[in-house]
Amino acid sequence: MLSFCESLHIRYNQPMLRLMCITAHPDDEAGGFGGTLLTYRDRGVETCVICLTPGQAASNRGTARNDPELAELRRREFAASCEILKVSQPIILNYPDGQLYRQELNRIVYDLTMRVREFRPQVMITFGAEGGVTAHPDHSMAGIFATLAFHWAGRANRYADQLKDGPGPHRAQKLYYGTADFALPNRPPITFPPQTAIIDISDYLEIKIAAFKAHKTQSPLWPLFEQNARRRGKSELYHLAASVNAGELHAETDLFAGVDPNE
Ligand SMILES: [Zn+2]
Repeated sequence: MLSFCESLHIRYNQPMLRLMCITAHPDDEAGGFGGTLLTYRDRGVETCVICLTPGQAASNRGTARNDPELAELRRREFAASCEILKVSQPIILNYPDGQLYRQELNRIVYDLTMRVREFRPQVMITFGAEGGVTAHPDHSMAGIFATLAFHWAGRANRYADQLKDGPGPHRAQKLYYGTADFALPNRPPITFPPQTAIIDISDYLEIKIAAFKAHKTQSPLWPLFEQNARRRGKSELYHLAASVNAGELHAETDLFAGVDPNE
């Protein structure tokens, strides 16, 4: 028979795996990372998506008459998509769409560092500095901000004011950039980070496409998206950009390979 304290100890010290995904626009979570988010949620991993902008500068605007109306529509679409992707913590921030490269770097990295310290992911996924298959500059910036937050969240001398009453420093164990082995047709070539991890999403491809289609204002993009998602097929590709177990690179099929669930 366990004492009350012992049972509490067990309940609150269950090792829990957590995956954080940092994106720029509503629909990136489905288009870039949807299969991976579903794969890990179904394995019991807690997932958090932080989308930096509400996508108010999109060319496809649905019924919106102005930017705030489009932002509102897209916030709801993001929530619907994250429900389909079973995201545990969907978070959409209010930075300006199309303008991330003009924002003060420190302000966004501060914000993201705080969120890493709160959610305490072992693994983080985001875009590389090339900006993914669309090479959108917001994607590039999301990846750069996320990379700094990944590294700085673990350092007690970075944003020490957050540590006074808040959670302690958190050193996430692995950082991955989503990558691809082809660019979109009729666009300038993109230089991708090499793939080091291949995640099999074959069971989730149709749900990933359904999640993308929760973004109804973006319906003119659905055919292009679906065509590319099917071309990518049963896998999502990643590049291991940082790891607490640095050493020789090995091809991986699991983003949580070698991760300590107690950290
Ligand atoms: Zn995007």
